[in-house]
Parts: sequence; C-alpha cells; structure tokens
Amino acid sequence: PNTALKSMRTTQMKKLCLILGDQLDHAITSLQKIDPQHDLILMAELQSETSYVKHHQKKILFLFSAMRHFALELKKKNYQVVYVDYEHNENLGSFFQQVQWLHSKHHFAEIHITKPGEYRLLKDFQTWQKKLGTSVILHEDHRFIASAEDFQQWAKNKKSLVMEFFYREMRKKTGLLMDQDKPLGGKWNFDQQNRKKWKKGLTFPKRPIFSPDAITQEVITLVNKHFSDHIGTTNDFGYAVTRTDALKVLQHFIQYILPNFGDHQDIMQTEEPFLYHSTLSLYINAGLLSPIEVCKHAENAFLQASVPINAAEGFIRQIIGWREYIRGVYWHFMPAYKNRNTLHATKALPRFYWDAQTDMQCMHQSIQQTIIHGYAHHIQRLMVTGNFANLAGLSVQEVCDWYLAVYVDAFEWVELPNTLGMALHADQATVGTKPYIASGAYINRMSNYCKTCRFDIKQKKGEDACPFNYLYWNYLIKHKKHFAKNPRMAMAYRNLARMDIKLQEALQKQAEQFLDTL
Ligand code: FAD
Ligand code: SF4
Repeated sequence: PNTALKSMRTTQMKKLCLILGDQLDHAITSLQKIDPQHDLILMAELQSETSYVKHHQKKILFLFSAMRHFALELKKKNYQVVYVDYEHNENLGSFFQQVQWLHSKHHFAEIHITKPGEYRLLKDFQTWQKKLGTSVILHEDHRFIASAEDFQQWAKNKKSLVMEFFYREMRKKTGLLMDQDKPLGGKWNFDQQNRKKWKKGLTFPKRPIFSPDAITQEVITLVNKHFSDHIGTTNDFGYAVTRTDALKVLQHFIQYILPNFGDHQDIMQTEEPFLYHSTLSLYINAGLLSPIEVCKHAENAFLQASVPINAAEGFIRQIIGWREYIRGVYWHFMPAYKNRNTLHATKALPRFYWDAQTDMQCMHQSIQQTIIHGYAHHIQRLMVTGNFANLAGLSVQEVCDWYLAVYVDAFEWVELPNTLGMALHADQATVGTKPYIASGAYINRMSNYCKTCRFDIKQKKGEDACPFNYLYWNYLIKHKKHFAKNPRMAMAYRNLARMDIKLQEALQKQAEQFLDTL
C-alpha cells in the first residue's frame, strides 16, 4: 500500500520544464516531456547570464524580447508558464536559485531540461539532482544533426579532424543535395566557383526590418535602464523576435539574396554590413528557425532552379558542415579547449575593439558596424578583426570574451572554436592546420576599404604603410620555429626567405613599435 500511495503522490506531483533563452523552439525535447495542463515551465531573465561577459545591448534586447514572445505563444497553447522577468521581485539571478525557489513551492517530481549549449551550464545542471533531491533529466538537443557522441565517434582515431569529411557524413545523414549516395551536381563542394573578389557596382537587396512592438518597447526601456554601460545601443532595433517574423527573413533571403550568396560570400564594402549574407545565425542559434528547415528551403530553391548549385551547396555547407563541426569540436575538447593558447598570445585588447576609433579603415568599418548592429559577417570576423588579433598576438582570452560579448548570435559553443581555433590558431591546429592570416593585400582584393584608408596598402614599411603588411611578416618571422614543419606554411616561408634580411629586420622593428602604441 505504501508503494501505491507513493506512486499516486508522484503522479499528482508536478514536473518542471526549464527553457533557456536559446531554446525557443516549440519542438524542443524538454517540452515534449511535460503535460501542458498539469506541469510548469520556467523561463527567466537572469543576471548571471547577462553579465558573465558584458553582452551587446541588442543581444540582450533580442533574447529577452524573443523569450517573452515565446512564453506568450506557450501560454496561448495552454502551457503553465512561470516567467521571471529581469525586474521581477523574486528574480534571484541564477538558474539554480530560480529553480530552487520554484521547487520549494511545488516539490517537483522531475525537472526536465534540454542540454545547454555551454559547458559551464551543463556542469552546473549536473549537480542539481543531488542538491535539490529530485530527478533532474537532461535531454539531447535534437536541433543539431550530430550529437556530441556522434562527433566523438567520427573523431575517434583520426589524426586530424577535417571539416570537409565530416560535412560529407552530414550530407549523407540528412540526404540534403543527394542523389541516393552521390552528391547532386557530381561534386561535394563547389567552393571553387565562389568567393569572387570585390568589384565596383554591386547592389545589395534591402533587408526586412521589424518595428518594435509593445513587448520589444518594454525590453528596450529595461535594457536602457540596466545595461547602458554595455557595448552598442538599443537604437534602430529591427531584428525579428518571433518565429513568424524570422520565417519572413528566411523567405526573403532565399528569394533575393541566396542566388548571389556563393559568388560574393567573402566581399566587404564600406557602410554595407549585410551584403549577400543571410543574417540567420541569431534566429537559428536562439531556436526560432531550425537548421534543417533553413537548409531544406535552400535545397528546394536549387531543385526549382531558382538558385545555382554553388550558392545552395555553399550555404548548406556552412550550416550542416561548419556549424555542426564547430559544435562537435567544442564538446569534444572542452573544458581544456578554453585554456589553449598555442602561440602564447597575451597582449591586452586595444581600446579600439570597443569604440572603433582607429585609422585602419577595415578595422574601423568592421567594429563600427558591430557596435551598431551586433553583427559582422564571417570574413570581417575572420580576416579583419580576427586576423589583426592573431597577427598582433592579442590575448586569446580577451579576444574570445570580446567575440562572445559583441555579436547577437554569440553563444560559447559556436563562438569559442571559431575564435580560439579558427581565427587565433590557438587550439593546437585542431580547427585549421594552418593559421588564417593575411597581409593587407587580401583585404584590398576582397573589399573597397583600402581606397579610403589613411594607410597605403602598397607600402610594406614606413609611416604610411598598411599595418597588416608589416604585422604579417613579423608574425612569420616570430613564429618561424613553430611553423617550420608545417607543409601548408611552406610557400609563405619561401616568400620570406626571398626577402632581404635588412628589410626583414626593418619590418620587425616597425611592427614592434606599432604594437607598443596599441
Ligand atoms: P551567413 O554567411 O549567411 O552563413 C549562413 C549560416 O551558416 C550562418 O547563419 C551560420 O548559422 C552558419 N555558419 C557559417 N559559418 C559558420 C561557422 N564558422 N560556424 C558556425 N556557423 C556558421 N557564428 C555564430 O553563430 N555565433 C558566433 O558567436 C560566431 N562567432 C564567430 C567568431 C569568429 C572569430 C568567426 C571567424 C566566426 C564566427 N561565427 C559565429 C561564424 C560566422 O561568422 C557567423 O555564423 C556568420 O557570420 C553569421 O552571419 P550570417 O547568418 O549572415 O551567416
Ligand atoms: Fe586595412 Fe591596410 Fe587596407 Fe587600411 S590599407 S583598410 S589598414 S588593409
């Protein structure tokens, strides 16, 4: 009889589902485990999450507003939602305290959570069962195509983790752009047709802009009140904050932008932040759009002959290739990954990363638009601000914290391997077997920035020389020993070997003087 009583009590007891700010998906696994009428959902705007780095104002605004809209949608579907907003008088500031607070009122039989995107939170959640004395069940995040275990399996016994091979597995697994077991168009990768250089006269489609509704207005007031010392502003906020509007951005992208996505993926232009990019990362990462649905739209556009294969394949590769691969690397190597610093880069981050006050036009443009929009596209992140940070030997930790703070789409699982691994080459050559470094010539080829820059792209040394030029050669000289056996760096070192030794010394001296001024 005791067992029967106990099981009756347990069935009457409520369950709790905790939904995080980047899990705004009605199909999220944790939500499937509860009864809408009987159980509770907790969502909370927490100080611990807004302040471990000082996130961009538009990032906090986007996430809080999207969370509030999502909570309303759940309520409309008759879910019982406890929403603790930032100014709620019982807002306790951290996930654990907030769950403990609700648990002390309801004595939940079970707590369901979809696994978080950050190692820090996963480790925290894993201690709760003991601390709370109730079952805490962590579910897989099915928004991703490969689980952490799938990646581990793929990575096992491999000397190097080449993204291209992982990507092919993902193509086979999803069936995207496949004809049975063969890639559509006869090739896995059409990148050779992409990445054309900058040319005059390109025009860029206008973007959908969403005027803030009453909910977003309230969040704007809140962010202005509590986060005005964070980078950026809340002015001119036009991002979508609901799935309905995010779908409009997706449709607009497929129709007007995707046809040119591949060709001009790497170009940069003064005062043009978005070019032919999708600006979908923030919606995918927060859960408003699913990565697979986004790829299916792109595949359909190709099948209906409205976009060329190089555009569709290039776009799909970014998502089921790079995005999944980056997540796999994160979970495979954390927590040690975060402390890697292969090239011992420790120089303090210069102030211009926060205020864009620099004469280097490429840096000014990329940082200024980051301050305004919380957005920069991949090549600006990798080959401008990332390239500079790597060449200048800026502190890996400070640079990673900067990227995590300033982009609306930044969550540690995706930001860290991209920054520490891809941009800074600090991860023992895991993400890239060679560093993504370049002199100013690359930036000049891919943009019109140099045309209005105070520095002269053609000069290697002297007061007017482009800093990327002497910093590039200085980097090669400084890390000669480290890269000596790397065959992918052989050409760069052959070029260096051809350079007069006096010139090498002069470039090194100028680089050191420049770095001292930062
Ligand atoms: P598009 O150019 O339109 O690409 C389409 C989609 O592909 C993106 O929306 C994104 O979901 C995916 N994608 C493309 N490249 C990558 C990649 N390398 N890793 C993961 N997804 C990718 N992306 C983030 O989502 N969050 C980050 O915090 C982040 N930090 C980065 C830091 C550095 C130093 C670098 C070099 C890259 C970073 N990226 C990050 C990857 C990439 O730059 C952004 O996903 C992209 O710029 C977002 O803009 P978009 O949606 O217009 O992308
Ligand atoms: Fe950047 Fe050098 Fe070009 Fe100036 S000249 S925009 S610093 S690459």
